[in-house]
Amino acid sequence: MVGRTRGIIIVACWNRSVLGLYVHIPFCSAICNYCNFNRGLFDAGLKERYVAALLTEIRRAADGSPADTIFFGGGTPSLLDPPEVATIIEACRQSWSLTSDAEITLEANPETMTPGRLDGFRAAGVNRLSYGVQSFRDDELGRLSRLHSAATAVGAFGMARAAGFDNISLDLMMWLPQQRVAQWLESVDGLIALGPEHASMYLLEIHPNAPLRDAMARGRWSLAPEDDAAEMYLSGLDRMDKAGYVQYEISNVARPGRHSRHNLKYWTDGEWLGVGSGAHSTRAGARWKNVSAAEEYISAVAAGRPVATEHRPLSAEERLEEALFTGLRLNAGLDLPVVKKRYDVDVWDRYGGELQPFVDQGVLLYDGGSLRLPRAGMLLAHEIMTVFIRSTVR
Ligand code: SF4
Repeated sequence: MVGRTRGIIIVACWNRSVLGLYVHIPFCSAICNYCNFNRGLFDAGLKERYVAALLTEIRRAADGSPADTIFFGGGTPSLLDPPEVATIIEACRQSWSLTSDAEITLEANPETMTPGRLDGFRAAGVNRLSYGVQSFRDDELGRLSRLHSAATAVGAFGMARAAGFDNISLDLMMWLPQQRVAQWLESVDGLIALGPEHASMYLLEIHPNAPLRDAMARGRWSLAPEDDAAEMYLSGLDRMDKAGYVQYEISNVARPGRHSRHNLKYWTDGEWLGVGSGAHSTRAGARWKNVSAAEEYISAVAAGRPVATEHRPLSAEERLEEALFTGLRLNAGLDLPVVKKRYDVDVWDRYGGELQPFVDQGVLLYDGGSLRLPRAGMLLAHEIMTVFIRSTVR
């Protein structure tokens, strides 16, 4: 397994100049009470103007570079109509050199799907769906103010299979209000029963201003103790292992060969170009972010003003720090000779003193050529990764 995932890293580094394209769709039918993403309420007229702006931005950014992924993220990209998705994909094809086997992912909410829409998305060129399921328990979905039920999610999955989608990812969230280990494992079992090719399992983060905080106070909903959250993580992954999935990143598992090619670009020091409001890009040693508000984005595009803000070159130290930080998220870990070749830094010489205590505790593995986190170490990932930040800040 390690050899296989390490292969992913080597290929990704070698493929460094092959872009991933990210298309942001900032509309949702309702705003979930925990959401901290860049999104707003759906409005048909606004969506139409937004898609027109997106097409203009895509054509302006065109440079014919090779690209092998398109990821429609949001928001709720499945609120677009299939012909709109088809037009955006076609604009990308005309603007960049999209490989014939490009991975084209659409994030989707279960309640937005019908057989006809799924057929349309497939005909448009989408070949991977990522459903935001979050839980297979209706009480938990209700507390999150999600619009779908568990039955809707199961139905949407079946419709996608019937439409011919053979690459589907499902997202689950753990450590939900009132959720305990047993309830979490019900959702994991629900996911395994459907048999998607890929799954993401994240801990719910409740931001300071999230309406969910008030709802929790009103409903007297509690969070399980932190030890239970660790148990949810470990036992959920254990079940996924037993069901034949391979963990390749802290929060992601896949059937062999079905990892997210697009997301791996973020974790393997790759390059990506984001279009749409609030989209981030990292390319040619620089990073930028588009203006966040959809109306402001549309006006800027219409006026021919740049939509990119916060454009700045990344220093060699920042690039190294990020490569280490994100690379350690992968089960394969960091290939130290690759880092040395790319950044001319011997990671162990530089950070070994601070990393050794973690190695001694068994939560970080060092074999002379690689550094990686065993699963128990993934629970402490943040603490271990801060070594790289502390060291580079000095
Ligand atoms: S569907 Fe997703 S992006 Fe939209 S409000 Fe809910 S969590 Fe946020």
